[in-house]
Amino acid sequence: MPGSELGAALVARDLTVNYEEGVALADFSLSVAQGEIVAVLGPSGSGKSTLLRAIAGLEPLVSGRIFFAGEDVTNVPTHQRGFVLMFQDGQLFPHLSVAANVGYGLFKWPPPKRAARVAELLAIVGLPDYGDRPITALSGGEAQRVALARSLAPNPRLLLLDEPLSALDADLRTALADFIRTTLKETATPALYVTHDHTEAACVADRIIEMP
Ligand code: ADP
Ligand code: MG
Repeated sequence: MPGSELGAALVARDLTVNYEEGVALADFSLSVAQGEIVAVLGPSGSGKSTLLRAIAGLEPLVSGRIFFAGEDVTNVPTHQRGFVLMFQDGQLFPHLSVAANVGYGLFKWPPPKRAARVAELLAIVGLPDYGDRPITALSGGEAQRVALARSLAPNPRLLLLDEPLSALDADLRTALADFIRTTLKETATPALYVTHDHTEAACVADRIIEMP
């Protein structure tokens, strides 16, 4: 790969995705350095979700290749890529406690280790005493902090965020974008953050890429 991409975490090159109705993503390339937060900015329908799904391995590519830490992962199944995708909402299980949600992806871990990891993440997102609370008792902002804790619990090597704050009010959105940035830096997690909101992108990212 080219010299500028050496040491990169993610390199996506010339990704093309088609739906029956037409092209959703055409020859799109980007890279994310280790520990870097890159925002992808574009209006609704510009292919942002398609891009994240393609990188996660959830969308078949017509062409293009995806590398992580120099390894070609284009044909690696989603669950073996070590990436986590976080959405706007609908992602927490309402019948489980906050702690059970955060620990959900750690089902193979021994229970004491899992409990320690859950406590660590709840402290990082500033909700240390929330473990026993029901999901239904959280505000929208708290729910997204719990979702962030759950996404980071398995220590993903890349976090893909699909408009994670779009359901929230503007003031809260800016505050939480700042909070997400701090948390990603604290955990040294490289991230690709898609949004249609320029202010949010500027708050969260080291670098902004516009969808064509
Ligand atoms: P964004 O996330 O930026 O709003 P999307 O990636 O969801 O954009 O969509 C890009 C384009 O692909 C849009 O024209 C959308 O209508 C189309 N599209 C998205 N998902 C599907 C699908 N499952 N089947 C067919 N077309 C789709
Ligand atoms: Mg979308």
